[in-house]
Formats: sequence, C-alpha cells, structure tokens
Amino acid sequence: MINKDRAIAKFMELVQIDSVSLNERGVADNLTAYFEALGYEVFEDQKSRAAAPQANAGNIIVKIPGVGTKAQDDIIILEAHMDTVEPGNGVKPSITEDGLYVVSDGTTILGADDKAGIAQILEVEAVLRENNLDHPPLELVFAISEEIGLLGAFNLDTGIVKGKMGFVLDGGGGPGTAIIGGPDYYDIVGKIIGKASHAGVAPDQGISSIQVMADAISNMKLLKVDEDTTTNIGRVICDYPTNVVPEVTRFEMEIRSLVPEKAQKQLKHVQDTLQASADKFGARLEFEVSQSLHAYHHDDSTPVIQRYKAMCERHGLEYEGIVMRGGTDVSGLTFNGIDAICLAAGGEYAHELRERLIIDEFLANIQQVLWLVTE
Ligand SMILES: [Zn+2]
Repeated sequence: MINKDRAIAKFMELVQIDSVSLNERGVADNLTAYFEALGYEVFEDQKSRAAAPQANAGNIIVKIPGVGTKAQDDIIILEAHMDTVEPGNGVKPSITEDGLYVVSDGTTILGADDKAGIAQILEVEAVLRENNLDHPPLELVFAISEEIGLLGAFNLDTGIVKGKMGFVLDGGGGPGTAIIGGPDYYDIVGKIIGKASHAGVAPDQGISSIQVMADAISNMKLLKVDEDTTTNIGRVICDYPTNVVPEVTRFEMEIRSLVPEKAQKQLKHVQDTLQASADKFGARLEFEVSQSLHAYHHDDSTPVIQRYKAMCERHGLEYEGIVMRGGTDVSGLTFNGIDAICLAAGGEYAHELRERLIIDEFLANIQQVLWLVTE
C-alpha cells in the first residue's frame, strides 16, 4: 500500500524548501496548500507565532476526521518539525547509485531531520485516504523551531490540538525503537561583579571577578554529577588589560537531569557555590536561569507505550525504549499534557554534511505508523 516512489519524491521536494529555524514559511505554505487541496481543515498556530516573534510561520495543524469503526476513537497526534539546522539552504538531494540512501551534495545537511518525519506523515495520510482505511481522528502537527529550543512544541495551542496521545517522528533507528524519556534542562547565564582597580598601584582596592569565578569553579560539582545529572560550563568571559583588576566575569552553563529533583538540587548547589565565593571576596553575583526542557519518563503503564508495545508484539518488532539526554518535541508535548513518545524517522547522521535518509528504514517506519493508527 505504501507508494515508495511517491514517499521519496515528497521527501526530496521537502528538503529542497529552505527552512532553517525561524524561516519555516516555505514548508508551512507547502503543507497548508497540500492539505487544503485535499479538503482538510488547516490551522496556523498563532500562539507559537507569538512565542517566537522572529519566526516567519507558526505551527501548522491539520485535522483529519476519523473513518469507519474507529471514527469515534481517541485522537492520535502525529508530529514532526519543519525547521532544520545550518547549513540547510539550497539542499540538492540525490539517491545513491546503490539505491539505498538519499544524500545531499555534501555542502549542506540533507534535512532528513526532520523532513523524513514530515514525508512519513504525508505518506501515512495518503495511504489511509486511498484505501479508505478505518482510523481514529488524527491531528497532524508540523512544528516550528525545534532545533532552537522546541519553541513550537512548547508553545503549542492546545485550544486547537485536542488529542492527548502523540507520536513524534524524529528519532533514529528503525521500527521498534522509541525515545521514552528526556531530561530537565536549565540554561544559566550569570555575572560576577567585583571591583576594578589598578593592578600595580592599588590591587588591594580591587576585587578580581575572575578570581571569584575560579574559586567557585574549583568548589563546584561539574560534568557527570551523578548517573542522571550533568553540568557544564561552556563560557567564561573576562577580558581586560593585565594592569586592571577585572571587574566583571560573565559565564554561561547548563544543567541536565533525568530526575527533576536532582536538577533542582544541582541548580541550588551551583548557585550556592557561586554565592559563597562572591561573599568570600565581597563580590556580587547575578544569576539568571531559564528552563528549556522538562523531564519526562514514560513507564510501561502509559497508554502511548502500551499502544506502541502491542503494535511491536503483533508485528514481531523488538521493542527498545530509550532515555535520551538531548531534546525532542516530546518534551514540549509532554509539557502541554500530551502523552507522547518519539519514533524513528529514517535519517542518519543528523546535523552533519553526511546526513542521509536510509530508504528501507524510512519505508519501514511509515509502515509502523500505519499499523499504529489502523489497528
Ligand atoms: Zn529533529
């Protein structure tokens, strides 16, 4: 029932529409025109637009009414993101000679992350429609700005999207593999403010912010804090002539944990350590925290996992639930009360110039989504 040539052609068409994060307009218009021509209701999510004012599109949401014996079943959400990383403009896709992969020309990424997910959803809808298969109502969500903090998924308008169970098509591997857990993620931006003074004439009048920072770092638990928690300082900036006691040192760091209480505890440890060093030297601390991911970890009793595992069993697929420390839109959907997991899209080497679509996995992943929505 899956039309291989059509699915691959759609994928190739999508990757040729530039859509680096915040520039999703082209893909949004393409999908809107495609689904409106088929007679479906299409919405552009203004809540996501308002939350990302620099973006030139909002999430695109398509409502597909249920059919046949499943028409009154609970809604299922299928989700993929429209944006790509850089270098992602002017993608020239081609199929390798052995017919196994789609690749870029090597000067850009391919954009299988996540246009493979979008193309999967389009093929699923086409197969359902052509064969008049029974299925529950579907909500198709095509999100903006996943790659820059899951902005679309976090700011999804749940006034439009009513479903409570979702499959995000944005993972690696083949059928059977699902991402079922993800971390809390805190971004920290801060400053140590000491006191400037002449380093040769009046060093005792100054407070060296870099010395305070060094003191704090040497007392801080960093990198792998425990089996669930990590912390990293990515940037410390202090740039003065050597004859000035440096007044300000700026820093940026992150904390991730699969367990929210541990993330909170580590956040407190980091802030307390910085504050203690600032107090010790008479400096001041400015400390700003923003949370860009919210931890989730579905156990086997969750309906979405039960549905997925049952499908795997029926079709002899080996189920593997993976907990990941990176972000996917599942984090945003979960934050909005939607029970979701992330399934494979069919791509490999995401964010690299050698990124490619594994054609057989892409097709097998379409099949597993068809099973999920028709059985
Ligand atoms: Zn992705």
